[in-house]
Amino acid sequence: VEMENNLVFEVKNLACAYKSSISNVLEIDDLLIDKGSLVFIIGPSGVGKSTILETLGLMNNTVKSNSSTVLDLILEDGNKIDLLNIWDSKNSYISSLRNKFYSFIFQSNNLFNSLTAFQNVLSSSLIQGQDIKLKAKEAEIILNELLSDLNIDSRDDIDITTMSGGQRQRISFARAILADFKILFADEPTGNLDWYNAKKLMNFLKKKIPSHGAGIIVSHDIDLSLEFADKIVLIDKKNKKVNGQDFSYGIISLENTFVKENNAWTNGKIKLDNSNFLSFIKEKFI
Ligand code: ADP
Ligand code: MG
Repeated sequence: VEMENNLVFEVKNLACAYKSSISNVLEIDDLLIDKGSLVFIIGPSGVGKSTILETLGLMNNTVKSNSSTVLDLILEDGNKIDLLNIWDSKNSYISSLRNKFYSFIFQSNNLFNSLTAFQNVLSSSLIQGQDIKLKAKEAEIILNELLSDLNIDSRDDIDITTMSGGQRQRISFARAILADFKILFADEPTGNLDWYNAKKLMNFLKKKIPSHGAGIIVSHDIDLSLEFADKIVLIDKKNKKVNGQDFSYGIISLENTFVKENNAWTNGKIKLDNSNFLSFIKEKFI
């Protein structure tokens, strides 16, 4: 019987470090991202949340591997792309993978200041070579829903430099979900938004996750993740001495990975309802 592979990422025994790091900043024992799922990554600052996005998202080479390391991106047809030695490939190959399979929402939102709000939203789809007429229609629908307070349409010449942080964040979000993607990576996508707009945005995002792909979201917002996540990965903070200095790093393991099952959260060993899980997270991180 052929085993059906339900994963889009399989990561085992991977360490991450930057060129200038004196030691590993993140160690991943196991990280499994299921097809069609929305995964939230939670943890205190400096523990490696952005690092995991940069690593899986092929933005930065942090990979420190050994003979047991697995770092696979699994495609719709079951074929795997081994990301371990990807940094030996040409830059053009790496950027073509990013362009084909990924979409990003960054903390600093990286919008083009010389483009209007509407043009910014279309820019990623344009780079991907999508049908822009079709995408322009979809862009209007997304913008009207997400920025109903602004009533943006294609005829508007809205200078994004005059927009608030929260408005820019929603433009950046609209751009990311309008593009075609398998994996959506987002680093604090609701950081500048109020609760109402954050929920609206997450509802939108959840509908956009392709059944063969996934959304991977780094967030400080525990309530939001309890409401929207299928899986929550808590990055544990550990301390050690490196050359006599205190050094902290993060650990990702199955023990601290919880999936939603019948309105409770389980790591396979314990099962916690929302309020107990909230206490568990707070105890861990405070
Ligand atoms: P988080 O997003 O959880 O706050 P990061 O992933 O940004 O944490 O950082 C994890 C660790 O890696 C920190 O110790 C940070 O100083 C270090 N780090 C992050 N980016 C770089 C970089 N480009 N070069 C060197 N060290 C980095
Ligand atoms: Mg970060």
